[in-house]
Amino acid sequence: MTLANFAQAEAKARATLVRNVHYQIELDLVDHNATEFNSRVTITFAAKDGGSTWVDLIAPKVNRIELNGEVISNSTFNGFRIELENLKPENQLTVDATCAYSTTGEGLHRFVDPVDNERYLYSQFETADARRAYACFDQPDIKASFAFSMKAPKHWVVVSNTQCEPSDESEYKLWRFPKTEVMSTYITGIVAGNYHQTFDKYQGKFGTYPLRVLCRQSLKDYLDAPFMFETVKHGFAVFERDFNVGYPFGKYDQIFVPEFNAGAMENAGCVTFRDDYIWRGKVTSFEHHWLSNVVLHELAHMWFGNYVTMEWWNDLWLNESFAEWAAYHAQQEQPGFTDAWVNFLTTRKSWG
Ligand SMILES: [Zn+2]
Repeated sequence: MTLANFAQAEAKARATLVRNVHYQIELDLVDHNATEFNSRVTITFAAKDGGSTWVDLIAPKVNRIELNGEVISNSTFNGFRIELENLKPENQLTVDATCAYSTTGEGLHRFVDPVDNERYLYSQFETADARRAYACFDQPDIKASFAFSMKAPKHWVVVSNTQCEPSDESEYKLWRFPKTEVMSTYITGIVAGNYHQTFDKYQGKFGTYPLRVLCRQSLKDYLDAPFMFETVKHGFAVFERDFNVGYPFGKYDQIFVPEFNAGAMENAGCVTFRDDYIWRGKVTSFEHHWLSNVVLHELAHMWFGNYVTMEWWNDLWLNESFAEWAAYHAQQEQPGFTDAWVNFLTTRKSWG
């Protein structure tokens, strides 16, 4: 266990103290060459009068901390926590920090495409890595609403858990995203760069949801967006029918990102996939089978995992097992993949 980690017992105590959390998060992503970015967060939250706790942040530098109108010393920050004391029933905390882009796929990852020198960013916050991009209570059971505001180069598209049109400022574009639904920090998402976009929508019994598939410019000729749209629409139809609960997050984006550590990540409405899944030549039907399953797996998490969430990381097994079951359950009805459970038996079951 590294010093930066915190224990379940600590998290449990914090969850009883901190409630009704809202984040206003401002990130400056403009500078092409910078390895760090400015992150300014205002957190409003309720707490027990006179209580003390901490807020998580892993950053090279804190510039200013203000709690309930009073500046508190930067020495309360030890590189991974800011200690908070004398809390009130209602609190406002502002943390201005210099955060580091990541090159390891944890936090806010920065990649410069060698093909065209375009810079691509994406977040990966599971398990507790949102604190590498903004100060927060970084545990799954302290759910909150989030309002992101990001400055980005003019030719970029910025994707997050909600959707907005940017405003044109003189040197950059400002993306002010509407407040999210209440969710955990680890499924907030930030994807930004000169991403190529394709559009579609899903119309179902609970509503109509805009869909997008995105990838970096240098891979767009190989992108099979229709396959991603068809598969996810199939998933929407099956899950709406069988869960009988509408999709909880308003829109659904699937973004292929570079240098991704896992297969995909279920950020609410802002799902990232490793871009090795964009094939540059013919592949076997097993590859299609696998990608379809990943698409359905991530979609299933929107209901189970994102809408309903485990308290702590030791229950991730149930989150993942449910998504595994739901993906094969939906896939067996998808044309071309009706042998889904046979595939499960020959690959995943023994692996499990
Ligand atoms: Zn999963």
